Amino acid sequence: MPPSPGQVMPETQPPWQPRDGLRVTGVRAIVTAPEGIPLVVVRVDTSDAGLYGLGCATFTQRFHAVAATVDEHVGPLLIGRHPADIEDIVRMIHLSSYWRGGPVLNNALSGVDMALWDIAGKRAGMPVHELLGGRVRAAAPLYLHAEGATVEATLEHAQRLMADGYRHVRLQTGQPGHGTYGAPGAPGGYPAAPHPDGWDVRHYLRTTPALFERARQVLGEEVELLHDVHSRLTPKDAVILARSLADHRLFFLEDVVAPEHYDRLPEVRAASPVPIAAGELLVSVPEAARLVLNGGVDLLRCHVSAIGGLTPARKLTALCELTGVRTAWHSPGDVSPVGVAANLALDVSTPAFGIQEAHVYPEAVCEVFPGTLNPVGGHLHPSSAPGWGVELDERLAARFPPVTHLHERWAARVRRPDGGLEPP
Ligand code: MG
Repeated sequence: MPPSPGQVMPETQPPWQPRDGLRVTGVRAIVTAPEGIPLVVVRVDTSDAGLYGLGCATFTQRFHAVAATVDEHVGPLLIGRHPADIEDIVRMIHLSSYWRGGPVLNNALSGVDMALWDIAGKRAGMPVHELLGGRVRAAAPLYLHAEGATVEATLEHAQRLMADGYRHVRLQTGQPGHGTYGAPGAPGGYPAAPHPDGWDVRHYLRTTPALFERARQVLGEEVELLHDVHSRLTPKDAVILARSLADHRLFFLEDVVAPEHYDRLPEVRAASPVPIAAGELLVSVPEAARLVLNGGVDLLRCHVSAIGGLTPARKLTALCELTGVRTAWHSPGDVSPVGVAANLALDVSTPAFGIQEAHVYPEAVCEVFPGTLNPVGGHLHPSSAPGWGVELDERLAARFPPVTHLHERWAARVRRPDGGLEPP
């Protein structure tokens, strides 16, 4: 029976004695946008003055909902708990809403979960990757996004990244109209159409192989090439695109179909001559596990906070390791530096690691989040500081209030020339 309004908070203590008197005393969400992208971070304070943890809860398109979930619903359940009981606490939060999962609840859960891992690391005096079993590699190789309005501009960008040490590069080139994902478009590409700025799938399928053919001529054979379709193909068109790229040896082809069609991914992957990556839009651990177990992916690409944090992600990582699937955690600018540290803790502690997406944070983000990890020579090196090794300057963070609907304004214009909406 749920409590009625005005009732005191139900007892959330487990039926065992905490090993000492340490307790959670405060839980709150902080939203800041030093790069213009709303980032959500959860801070968990304890009865030990100065001992606190930070977790990434960034769902940039619905940050108000995540912050309210943390502050009003999830946080009060933790007060008085010993922060060591991470498994029990995240399971208790997950089950406590009865209806569970989804990006809002999972991001709130992730913020708490990662903050508890941060506290665990600080208590042990160890970086979190040591709590996970220690390193199996020195650093995580990264890929960055090369993009341009034309093929030549895209390849020039890729050459600059390769000169900086990157051996993996994602290529996205503009199209007529609104453009393909991750690259500028050419407005008015279809002047006679109902939506002149439209994106045309047939044009995309014709021109994308030419991008990669030219890329091999210009960039050579050594560099690993990646591409993100961003969910805009049918399963059959996904196979057509994958086969058209066979000669150009992609490292992976990402999100060829929308999550609504993930049950078709095993057949797409079986027919694809290039590795298939998917998963950044997953908000359910069982669905992610099904994708791995049913042969839907060569690389699993979850947004770690969207599936509930480090605790579920490390279990999926183990599943990948046991089934020959590799990891490629989602990590562009809408992951906070705390989330990057969590991705990296997984990357350096598992043999299942495939590749890590990266983002170069500007100075403002590095100042708000002291300890932010930025790429060096195409790699991320883990911090040896206890916990995540990332702090948050709340006074500075308050100078960068979030703006709503940035993504929505862009997404509402992603339409075909006939005016029909496409996945953004
Ligand atoms: Mg993607």
